[in-house]
Amino acid sequence: MNKKTIRDVDLRGQRVLVRVDFNVPIENGHITDDTRIVAALPTLNAILDQAPQSMVLMSHLGRPKDGVPDPKFSLKPVADALSAKLNRPVTFVAEPLTDAAVEMVAALPAGSVVLLENTRFFPGETKNSPELAAKFAKYGTIFVNDAFGSAHRAHSSTEAVAKLMPAVAGLLMEKELTYLASALDNPQRPLMAILGGAKVSDKIKVIEALLTKADKVLIGGGMANTFLRAQGRQMGASLVEADAIATAEGLLARAGDKLMLPVDGVIADAFKDDANTQIIPTTQDVPDGWQMLDIGPATVERYAEVLSTAKTIVWNGPMGVFEMSNFAKGTNAIAQTLAALTEKGALTIIGGGDSAAAVAQANLEDKMTHISTGGGASLELLEGQELPGVVALNDK
Ligand code: AMP
Repeated sequence: MNKKTIRDVDLRGQRVLVRVDFNVPIENGHITDDTRIVAALPTLNAILDQAPQSMVLMSHLGRPKDGVPDPKFSLKPVADALSAKLNRPVTFVAEPLTDAAVEMVAALPAGSVVLLENTRFFPGETKNSPELAAKFAKYGTIFVNDAFGSAHRAHSSTEAVAKLMPAVAGLLMEKELTYLASALDNPQRPLMAILGGAKVSDKIKVIEALLTKADKVLIGGGMANTFLRAQGRQMGASLVEADAIATAEGLLARAGDKLMLPVDGVIADAFKDDANTQIIPTTQDVPDGWQMLDIGPATVERYAEVLSTAKTIVWNGPMGVFEMSNFAKGTNAIAQTLAALTEKGALTIIGGGDSAAAVAQANLEDKMTHISTGGGASLELLEGQELPGVVALNDK
């Protein structure tokens, strides 16, 4: 990591402005998954250990209409949850852009923790407005970015604000970058990637990048359908992206045997959990009206065999419609395989989003080397892109 972190600076007496990723799911005012809050705690505790004057946190939550406050997306419930986890009061600031709020925070006793209201309630955040960043900057003498999940966006609270004062990475940001970058830049080989999810079109850049870096790329999920169609198979009612068939054909031609496709699949006569199902080899057409919703057992076995020699494995995207138990078997089996390989010493890195959710669903969170907290950000890193929220931080 060539960026400064909170370990490289002296935070004593400073007013530390921290961008965290507290974008947690909230239902009826209750946080249903606090993973992201928990993931930020090492950074927050490390900052507090350095005895700053204050630690002011900001985050976005959900997708309120740009710049328009919406109580549904208030961070207030997060302030309460965080207070319990840090075991100290957290002052919530509902209107952080007012002078009164800035003065109130400045008058708090040393060591106070403050959480500002949802950054997306303020016009300009998603446009990376320097004016808005200047208002956030009133709360800090130094900026810490720990919001890996938001680092792929150039927003006022992630990018513009970092230009207004010394800016360093938090520990979660450092950990994410270290795992995801080391997996790609200087991996222990063989490096293998497992890619799934709905669409080829969303992941063309990732497939291309991984085909140059990885020793094998194993494909599953809805995107496998488009590849199978490109090989000439009829896919019935399966999700196939007509626009991406030519691209899939090109990737197949270029990749040779580096790219592996499912050898069998679970097909269903409807997109529902209690549909009739069959397992068919992918050398066979999918009958009219049927759709492929998961990889089959022979594919699971084949992929497990190939993966067994890997030293580094990167996984992004489920192998099937894992939200329905009858089509979650392939995804769960891959999760189990990776857990077993981690135990044998392989480095396993799970991209955020659905793959992370699938690992959680299989109760295997502790069995992987690293599970990313950022879906979009980890995908962009895997594509080989730089993240604006990281670029803006000070170099070592
Ligand atoms: P993504 O956001 O691109 O990672 O896609 C994840 C979504 O792909 C999940 O909601 C899965 O249900 C869906 N998915 C995976 N496999 C299939 C499939 N064979 N057919 C339709 N949807 C799928």
